[in-house]
Amino acid sequence: MSDLLERLRERGWRLTAQRRVVAEVLDGDHVHLTADEVHARAVSRLPEISRATVYNTLGEMVTLGEVMEVATDGRAKRYDPNAHHAHQHLICSGCGAIRDVHPLGDPVAELPADQRFGFTVWGAEVTYRGLCPNCQ
Ligand SMILES: [Zn+2]
Ligand SMILES: [Zn+2]
Repeated sequence: MSDLLERLRERGWRLTAQRRVVAEVLDGDHVHLTADEVHARAVSRLPEISRATVYNTLGEMVTLGEVMEVATDGRAKRYDPNAHHAHQHLICSGCGAIRDVHPLGDPVAELPADQRFGFTVWGAEVTYRGLCPNCQ
């Protein structure tokens, strides 16, 4: 059983066949699929699954905090099952390929106190940009 499925099950989420397929499609390392990509892959396993079901299921997983939304400028939002391990993203400006990366140091800790403006800060998203080997 995959990690995402396991986490959803631990949360007591009712795993219908449709939800299970969406979770299976999303599971793995460096997975950052758009909702349409999730739907296309889900259909190959469960032909009757509708786009609306996929969208709703993704939304529920995000609400549960088990899947993260990754905004990539100018491109469709992507869904990332790696929600429990702090990581940043390296994005190819050519093809949009995304890798999970772990910079040295904690970007939250690196924000100086005089730039916190009284906020309690708990998160940071850093996007590294470049060209992947295929696009160079
Ligand atoms: Zn590329
Ligand atoms: Zn990621």
